[in-house]
Amino acid sequence: MVVVTLTTRNQVWSALPPIGKRDDRPLDLPHLDAVTQAQVVARLLSPDFDAWSVAASRVGFCAKPIRLVGRSDTFDRGTAGLVRTYASAEEPTGVTFVRCGNRRASECESCSRLYAADTFQLIRAGVSGGKGVPERVAENPLVFATLTAPSFGSVHGTHPNHGRCRPRRDTGARCPHGRPLSCMAIHEQDDPALGQPLCPDCYDYASAVVWQWWAPELWRRFTITLRRMLAHHLRVLPANLGHVASVQYAKVAEYQLRGAVHFHALVRLDGPQTPDGFAPAPTTVTAPVLSALVEQAVQAVRVTADPVHDDDIQRVLAFGTQVDTRPVRTSSRTDDPDRELTPGQVAGYLAKYATKSATDTESKDSTHLRRLHATARNMASRTVSADQDPTAPYGLLGKWAHTLGFRGHFATKSRRYSVTLGALRRARQRAQARIAEANRTGTPVDLRQLEAELLADGADGTTVVIGSWAYAGTGWANDGETALATAAASRAREYAQERAQSRKQQSSGEK
Ligand SMILES: [Zn+2]
Ligand SMILES: [Zn+2]
Ligand SMILES: [Zn+2]
Repeated sequence: MVVVTLTTRNQVWSALPPIGKRDDRPLDLPHLDAVTQAQVVARLLSPDFDAWSVAASRVGFCAKPIRLVGRSDTFDRGTAGLVRTYASAEEPTGVTFVRCGNRRASECESCSRLYAADTFQLIRAGVSGGKGVPERVAENPLVFATLTAPSFGSVHGTHPNHGRCRPRRDTGARCPHGRPLSCMAIHEQDDPALGQPLCPDCYDYASAVVWQWWAPELWRRFTITLRRMLAHHLRVLPANLGHVASVQYAKVAEYQLRGAVHFHALVRLDGPQTPDGFAPAPTTVTAPVLSALVEQAVQAVRVTADPVHDDDIQRVLAFGTQVDTRPVRTSSRTDDPDRELTPGQVAGYLAKYATKSATDTESKDSTHLRRLHATARNMASRTVSADQDPTAPYGLLGKWAHTLGFRGHFATKSRRYSVTLGALRRARQRAQARIAEANRTGTPVDLRQLEAELLADGADGTTVVIGSWAYAGTGWANDGETALATAAASRAREYAQERAQSRKQQSSGEK
């Protein structure tokens, strides 16, 4: 390992976020070949190093930033006056860097962490208020639900209380392919057998792909069914539910080891919508009542799926029977049943699933996942493609073979659940610009007030930005710059973890 100490210039490698905090320890670089090492040294000694590292820190040391050239002018909507201008030509390197925005940690550690943090903020705001969401949202009934896929065949698994995988009294029983129907093992958490079928030839790969294909439709019908059941409970016509209540949700899809997605969702019941938010929720629907209705709705949903090709069958699809719904604030956590499931925890769970989801199937390679992938490709090759008929139900299956048939978004929310990721991003960009300005002029900034102001600004749009930008490329100039940015991103992560740790210790010391 090569350790580079950025002697007099190291203060530039500020660990962002938070803005303004400095970290002056040396960066750890992995082993680099001679060429890359020379590039690192050249960058460190270059006259515009400070400017470059400021630009890099502004994109959080993104591993593969997008380079843009152009300018943007911000006008006041009311007076039409020019508020500020910005051009890439002002940058010492002549280009403006923009984060790659990839949520997968394997692609960009920095952007994936930011995505998780934003998702956490978004979900938590919908649970306890803040970021422009009224705080009384916390009084509304809230349910944390996990919607599973049904079984497509027995797979190896860990069972609660460290039980055996697939115990059977008759351990000699075999499937038609001669494979055991039981497994007496107690699998470790990292056992590669987990999620693999006991018999791949018994496993219904085709149905697994078809279910995954229709999973977003199952979810959509679940929300419709839930609204209908709520209307029935509240004794109003479904069309009039909006007069008394409104269902809001945030959901995240997570791949299980067997390659099927689960939906983890927060379902919230608001009162009718008002211009500034919502009225109180109807008092007859408590969190336990909502929880029971969510469970009934999940179990009632069906989708009839047409055959994918001539030799295929029609299927009636449903969610798995294993539905877990629990009211938040009065429920227990799975890892510590004595404690309540708090809003912060559910937001944390969902944020974790949101970043985990997209990486999992692509990074974990197994015979089972390869076979699911191959099944999806094969079925796609035998169906009417979207080129032949844009309305063909499985026309784009081939395009989604790599996600094992899942074509939905990994994280979604209803419109009124919370603030949007876009609003959070825009507010942050403007905050960075304002803070940079404040640093230049030496005026202190009240971050809390600034955030409120910027989020509100995004909502009613007091300014309008006119920009003209052209794509100039992707990534840093060379491997040396990439190595520096990657090392700085890791350092920023360590720094954030240390801060979180010390905050934790502080708060436990106060108790
Ligand atoms: Zn990135
Ligand atoms: Zn097993
Ligand atoms: Zn078999």
